[in-house]
Amino acid sequence: MVRPRTPAGRARETSRRLGALFPGTASDLCALDHADAFQLLAATILSAQCTDERVNLTTPGLFDRFPDAPSLAVAPVDEVEALIRSTGFFRAKTRSLIGMATAVVDRFDGVVPSRMEDLVTLPGVGRKTANVLRSVAFDLPGLPVDTHVQRLSRRLGLTDETDPVKVEHVLNAMVPAADRGRFSLRLILHGRATCRARSPRCQECVLADFCPAASLGTDAVPVGGDGPRTRRPTSRGATQPSGR
Ligand code: SF4
Repeated sequence: MVRPRTPAGRARETSRRLGALFPGTASDLCALDHADAFQLLAATILSAQCTDERVNLTTPGLFDRFPDAPSLAVAPVDEVEALIRSTGFFRAKTRSLIGMATAVVDRFDGVVPSRMEDLVTLPGVGRKTANVLRSVAFDLPGLPVDTHVQRLSRRLGLTDETDPVKVEHVLNAMVPAADRGRFSLRLILHGRATCRARSPRCQECVLADFCPAASLGTDAVPVGGDGPRTRRPTSRGATQPSGR
């Protein structure tokens, strides 16, 4: 059994093992239902502070009425608010959705752009959402960093950075460009199923034999540290709040 001892080695082995656990492309692994880049962008905006399941229950009604940027750009605010209300923060999300659609129509001829520097100029679109679009919709390099990716990167001893942009840059240096989107999505899936924020299931984790946090029973591990390897994996020690 390979037991890597460096952050880059752990990233490689994490990618390999989670790839076997969660096979497929970034598009295959994305849980948000969508027909094209515009719908994925709208769904990703709706997914803030909301489950993917709830978003997937909401978007059919929204896309049935407003299927593309031109229609959503001129949508009545109160109608959009009513359609997306159950996803929470519906007033702010409505502003983002209509603002995003208007910007796509006015500045990008109705076509969602694929460049990071363009995507982040759209209302409601930050670097994380832009990376989702790049990797899932356009099959381009993009490594979204959410709370799961931050938490697992720290527990696995890949980085001790806490700023999402710095985490992204550190991981980018260790993960081949073509694998970045699915690496992020696999960390998210593993974070939801096994490496949970409050009670990680280390005893059933496929990464436990080299994960520094499994050995130490805490996520406060130094990057590059191997930690003692004689203790059994424990479920103690995770205290970060959960989140998307
Ligand atoms: S061994 Fe535990 S802390 Fe490490 S990745 Fe697996 S579940 Fe998370």
